[in-house]
Amino acid sequence: MLTPMQPTSPSARPLAPAPLRLEGRLVLGEAVVPGSLLLEDGWIREVREEPDNAAAAAGPYLAPGFIDVHCHGWGGHDATGDAGALTGMAHALLKRGVTSFLPTAPTLPRADTVAFAERVRAWMPGATTGGAEPLGFNLEGPCIAPARKGAHDAALLLAPGALDEGVLAALLDGLRIITIAPELDGAPSLIARLAARGVAVSLGHSNATLVQAQAGFAAGARTTTHLFNAMSGVDHRTPGLAAAALADDGAFVELIADGHHVHPALWPLVARTKPADRLVLVSDALAVAGTGDGQGRVGGLDVEVRDGRATLRGTDTLAGSVIALDAAVRNMVLSGAATLPAAIAAASANPAALLGAHDRGRLEAGRRAHLLELDDDLRVLRVTRGGGWVAGARSGDTRAPGAHPASR
Ligand SMILES: [Zn+2]
Repeated sequence: MLTPMQPTSPSARPLAPAPLRLEGRLVLGEAVVPGSLLLEDGWIREVREEPDNAAAAAGPYLAPGFIDVHCHGWGGHDATGDAGALTGMAHALLKRGVTSFLPTAPTLPRADTVAFAERVRAWMPGATTGGAEPLGFNLEGPCIAPARKGAHDAALLLAPGALDEGVLAALLDGLRIITIAPELDGAPSLIARLAARGVAVSLGHSNATLVQAQAGFAAGARTTTHLFNAMSGVDHRTPGLAAAALADDGAFVELIADGHHVHPALWPLVARTKPADRLVLVSDALAVAGTGDGQGRVGGLDVEVRDGRATLRGTDTLAGSVIALDAAVRNMVLSGAATLPAAIAAASANPAALLGAHDRGRLEAGRRAHLLELDDDLRVLRVTRGGGWVAGARSGDTRAPGAHPASR
């Protein structure tokens, strides 16, 4: 007896997920509107604004997934570790609403930097929807200024001329962002070469004069590594990189909104000075983020965390943060520095635009269903990277220093 033929039409695929309609308060561009999203096969198919939908108006905020372009680790996992560490970091970040990220290496010995790039490339194709999606990697250094090295090892810094074609060949595949100090000899030509290859050059760890910083942007730099931190500033007689970055409407600026790196009193100044689509919230988080106070390491240097503040051990030098982007968004909104849509855009649409990742970052039909739900206190309820949902991690982050500008 013949067995019946199996159905072959695509509509008969038994595992295809059914379309899902979600209701809530949609964070759309510059507005928050009650409405619904139709999701199918990991994509947003339809966005419906429904101002009179009372159930949607009482629902959670629905926002695009966050994109952290500057993150050294999370939940005890270091971006420069092995595939297991990258997976652990991706999973920990997803629970905080981060659906895409760039594993970020500090300045390392040259061979270690190449090994980091190779590990990320090898790991990326198998990264599952249970964690944030890697979009390549970010190198913070090695062509940065000794005078503004921050928590980077001075012995490992290199002149731009050292990044010759041979070295670059081993790094370019997957390199999305690199920090360069524009005042270094040969920096403008290195910036131009990298920009021509599609790398977003970020000016930072720099003592540049205004003119040197402007030359860096003119050479093709597109963004600015943690505005104000480890850079020449906004002195009214001798303006530096921070002034150049704020005054250049085309330049993106990263901001670490943890209340330690930049005083909350300056957040609204940044939010009002920059065009709304040029502010990028980053965590600059270390592997110890999410594990409470204690000890850790970054780039081979010892770090200690006390009261949510990470410093090089025995010094007052900030070494990165222990927040995730959900806390940065909450801090910006609760402090009054930014509206909810502006803060969400700074953590989603703006970093997507910086990276040219036009398939994500907004609640729009045709974009990936990378989404999160937030409660009224802007805590992550649940997150999806186009697959199943994971519950938000809402414990272990009780401080919102932005809401208390006096704390520091
Ligand atoms: Zn960093």
